Amino acid sequence: MPYNMPATRVLMNNLRQVMAEDGDTRSRLDHVVRLIASTMVADVCSIYLREPDGALLLIATEGLKPEAVNKTRLTAFEGLVGFVARTAEPISIEDAPRHPAFSYRPETGEDPFHAFLGVPILRTGGVTGVLVVQNRTERTYREEEVDTLQTISMVLAEIVHTLTLSPAPQAAPDRRMRGPGGGSLKGRIFCEGLGFGRAVLHDPVVPAAKFFAADQVEEAERLSQGLVDLRTSIDRMMLIDGAVLGEDPRDVMEAYRLLAYDSSWAEKLHEGVRSGLSAEASVDRVRREHRAKLQNARDPYLRERFHDLEDLDNRLLRVLGGEEGKPQITGDRSVLVARRLGPAELLEYSKAGLKGLLMEEAAASSHAAIVARALGIPAIGGIEGLTTRIEQGDYVIVDAEEGTVHIRPDDAVYDAYQSREALRSERQAAYAKLKGLPARTLDGTDISLMLNAGLDLDLDMLDQAGADGVGLFRTEFQFLVSETLPRLNDQITLYQRVLKRAAGRPVVFRTLDLGGDKVLPALNLQREENPALGWRSIRFALDHKGLFRRQLRALVRAAADGPLTVMFPMVTVPAEYHAAKALLMEEVAWSARKTGVQPSQLSVGVMLETPALGFSMQDLGGEVDFLSVGTNDLLQFFFAADRMTPSVSERYDLVDPAALRYLKMVAEVCTAHNIRLSVCGEATASPPVALCFAALGYTSLSMAASAIGPVKQALRKVDLGAFRAGLLALMDKPNGSFRNQVLALAAEHGIDTADS
Ligand code: PEP
Ligand code: MG
Repeated sequence: MPYNMPATRVLMNNLRQVMAEDGDTRSRLDHVVRLIASTMVADVCSIYLREPDGALLLIATEGLKPEAVNKTRLTAFEGLVGFVARTAEPISIEDAPRHPAFSYRPETGEDPFHAFLGVPILRTGGVTGVLVVQNRTERTYREEEVDTLQTISMVLAEIVHTLTLSPAPQAAPDRRMRGPGGGSLKGRIFCEGLGFGRAVLHDPVVPAAKFFAADQVEEAERLSQGLVDLRTSIDRMMLIDGAVLGEDPRDVMEAYRLLAYDSSWAEKLHEGVRSGLSAEASVDRVRREHRAKLQNARDPYLRERFHDLEDLDNRLLRVLGGEEGKPQITGDRSVLVARRLGPAELLEYSKAGLKGLLMEEAAASSHAAIVARALGIPAIGGIEGLTTRIEQGDYVIVDAEEGTVHIRPDDAVYDAYQSREALRSERQAAYAKLKGLPARTLDGTDISLMLNAGLDLDLDMLDQAGADGVGLFRTEFQFLVSETLPRLNDQITLYQRVLKRAAGRPVVFRTLDLGGDKVLPALNLQREENPALGWRSIRFALDHKGLFRRQLRALVRAAADGPLTVMFPMVTVPAEYHAAKALLMEEVAWSARKTGVQPSQLSVGVMLETPALGFSMQDLGGEVDFLSVGTNDLLQFFFAADRMTPSVSERYDLVDPAALRYLKMVAEVCTAHNIRLSVCGEATASPPVALCFAALGYTSLSMAASAIGPVKQALRKVDLGAFRAGLLALMDKPNGSFRNQVLALAAEHGIDTADS
């Protein structure tokens, strides 16, 4: 046991009393620095608070000149204190003035002090301050002392944090829990919409009241039992999943298990309990260190390991907290805040009703993002610093129209959003009125408005949005949201359910589109330099004939003697289409032979996602029933702009003369060869883009449910022939901003382009 453990315990006991005191925060901090200095036999103990710009302000001291308090402010890059804040690591120095990072501030009267020990004050992943002890004599601080100071800094984090918050506002107690506005953060829209509510953190939170253990022996036993339960649950996971996962994921799981059994981790946790912390607080202390290291780590391998470690900390907190420790979703007023989230977890939470989802994870194709879209929960992802900035219970506005989250909004922001919400509801009501009406243009062209879906949950939206059918059913979602590869029967069941819920409306099943950003751990794919251009989609399916055939068989079986529509993604050359179609036809023939049943009508299409295919459509005449433009992929290949890289993904637009001329050429070739034209990428969600497609002859547009109302409204207002003539004239002689000219043209046709 470390030599000074009894002293630490005494200190913790005293701190516990200070925490329980009524006095104001500053006097409590003065009390704390005195306590630490005397217990650690230090000449100085100081606390620096990190301000929003990164500067560090001296807010309490014992030993330095009191006048320096609230005056001495070090920039983020200044001095040893700045060094600790930047690295989020403790440093211990025998003779500080000789250290290159040392910065002398005369007002503090620091001259006589040589030994320096500084530790970061960490809170929900970020450094919120620095705690320092100094001694006159040159000395080396022992490891145990560093540890003690780190433990204390965790308790302090809660007190220091309250300093950054002003008293609870009186005006709107139901809305803002506390404090000044928390500002706003930006991210990527995963599911469009607006959401309001209180933040519920997915990762377990240890309330300050639970920091200290009443009985250390009992607490140590509780921790040991928690560790045993955690390890048993991980062993069980290995037994169930390990057998079906294949080698690579198994290795990952095994590494995870080793971490859970790591004795130095357990020892560190026990050390916290011995120093007077509760088991939860001890895990939390270690978790803060892991998070800080994760934030600083650049190496992807190291980052993965720190993620795993943090995952383990969270798991252990859940085990220790039992039912009570679970996030409390309150009716329909909660916004879930998570670093990462599994799809099953989100489904579980959503049962209690969620108003929004915020995630640090960046991929819009992440499984949780997919489920959020299926459930229609406004969601934003890729928000850096999310869990550092949002506190449990904070009031937040999820603006998943702009990709912004407002934390503890002030009255002006709140009121502005209330009006926007009202406007949105008004618009929704207007769209709802159009539900039973056709998307018929003023000059009589009917456009089919279809739904993009991927889970059978999505199908609820068919009626709600008044869609004419499903224009894109992303079959790979079933694979992405399940732990193991779906079996033939699982696939048949899903497809049957989808067809049943579509109740006679057409459903276009897109065959497996895996690879790229849709990575299946169970399939053990190799890492690629450029996954979007790699072994994905139809290329991958044709190289995994067993898997592909099984899916085609499931589709044929699910359709039974009804109609079946299938389309193949990312076909680049006709040979790929021919190979895929041949497999489908073999399955149809096999089914007919085996069961005497075959689809009453078979429609086979191809997605236009690579520019090359557009120049081969004439070669597919007579073979292909329809073409569907996958704008998400087509855009990225046409303009060479990665759809996953935010800085370029929105730089280019289909409302561009080059893109529209290409799409016009494709439309003409297809029409000449009797190939029906449709679109199923996200771009059609924008009414002006939808109009351009319709004007070029694409008569079936598939989109997210929320886009159907606005697009239908626009189509019903337009004289398509006149719009086409105007568009072709602009395409013929573009000058200046083509996009603005097209928007102006749409506006002339009565289309609201304010949001475009
Ligand atoms: C597309 O690329 O436009 C498309 C619909 O496919 P996904 O977004 O699933 O790649
Ligand atoms: Mg695609």
